[in-house]
Amino acid sequence: MHIDTITTITSPDLAWQQEALCAQTGADFFFPEPGSSVREAKRICGMCPIRSACLEYALDNDERFGVWGGLSEKERLELRRTSR
Ligand code: SF4
Repeated sequence: MHIDTITTITSPDLAWQQEALCAQTGADFFFPEPGSSVREAKRICGMCPIRSACLEYALDNDERFGVWGGLSEKERLELRRTSR
């Protein structure tokens, strides 16, 4: 979950996103330029209280870009492949 999305949330079933740590850090870490490190985003996700819900949301909604729930785009793709 990322800061731009959080400010526009109105659905009660997305209320969990209000606890997102990335809302306090900014989206730059979570949507780095291609080839850039995602280490800092993953470190922040590792401390986030809603990590599991975030990852589930990303997988359910086929989020293709950025770090969600502590996983990069490639890692989420791999998770989808192996869980089929
Ligand atoms: S798990 Fe990471 S991307 Fe998801 S809400 Fe928390 S800090 Fe943001």
